[in-house]
Amino acid sequence: MTAKIIDTLAGKNVQPTPMRMLILEQFLLNTRALSLVDLEGFLPRADRSTIYRNLKFFVQKGLIHTVDEGSVAQHYALCPDACEEGAHLDTHPHFYCTSCKETICLSSLVIPSFRFPVKYRVEQVEMTA
Ligand SMILES: [Zn+2]
Ligand SMILES: [Zn+2]
Repeated sequence: MTAKIIDTLAGKNVQPTPMRMLILEQFLLNTRALSLVDLEGFLPRADRSTIYRNLKFFVQKGLIHTVDEGSVAQHYALCPDACEEGAHLDTHPHFYCTSCKETICLSSLVIPSFRFPVKYRVEQVEMTA
């Protein structure tokens, strides 16, 4: 696991500090999107602002992306290898389970491009099954 963590960080040009490794490990262990509260639960000895700062840094580095699935807390999920600093390629939809309250990336799906009348501006797309 440690080698995988270091490889993943190196792939995005991120120095492997102990805290970064602990946070990334949780993303590798969990298939679902994680919130700051989730990470605080997994890393009880870590300080909240330190975790938050590292999450912001990871997003900037193309390591994780933010997930807006409509719940109150901001969630984050691991990015594919193709994402890099300042260039996120996560155009996939996310699935939110209303029963277990978990969100996962549907990485193999691409959000179709919609053609709307020009007077509208699309800000958010929601799919209902
Ligand atoms: Zn990304
Ligand atoms: Zn995602």
